[in-house]
Amino acid sequence: MQAETKAVVPGPCPCCNTEIKYLYKTENIPYFSDILIISAICPSCGYKFVDTQLLKHGEPARYTVAVDTQDDLSIRVVRSMSAAIEIPELGVHISPGPSCQGFVSNVEGVLDRIEQVVKGALQWGNDVEKENAAALLADIVRVKAGTFPITLILEDPSGNSGIISDKTVKEAYVPEEEYPQVKISEE
Ligand SMILES: [Zn+2]
Repeated sequence: MQAETKAVVPGPCPCCNTEIKYLYKTENIPYFSDILIISAICPSCGYKFVDTQLLKHGEPARYTVAVDTQDDLSIRVVRSMSAAIEIPELGVHISPGPSCQGFVSNVEGVLDRIEQVVKGALQWGNDVEKENAAALLADIVRVKAGTFPITLILEDPSGNSGIISDKTVKEAYVPEEEYPQVKISEE
């Protein structure tokens, strides 16, 4: 097993240009490749940056997994900043972008994140948006109860994401757009 490595790389804050420290840290997931966590906090403007990437990948990849039972909620999901998340059955599509964060979580955690966003729409949206939000929240409850099967799709042009399960189908795909990404070369 590889030891954890850490490195601090100075770089400009994308918001206010102050020189800040980016912390690069690798973590080892058993039976899977290492993950790299890059994080930074700007002391002058409060900008926060977190990205998570799987190492040893690098080709554009689409991961698909069927979430049919409550057990499937614990399937681990590694999402880099450049990955899009899609759940067709829920009409959910989360596009990557400079403001989105990478994370290591599981299927339930992904649903929790969607819930958070949808609850915002429930507060601030118009009538139609509120109705859609309420319906989506009800669907998420059923998914968590294991009574509403969904398909979780992760598309990553950097290839640095993954869904860690025997059931996961991995395929190559051609990205429609290029997203900015941090290139890390392995030692
Ligand atoms: Zn800043």
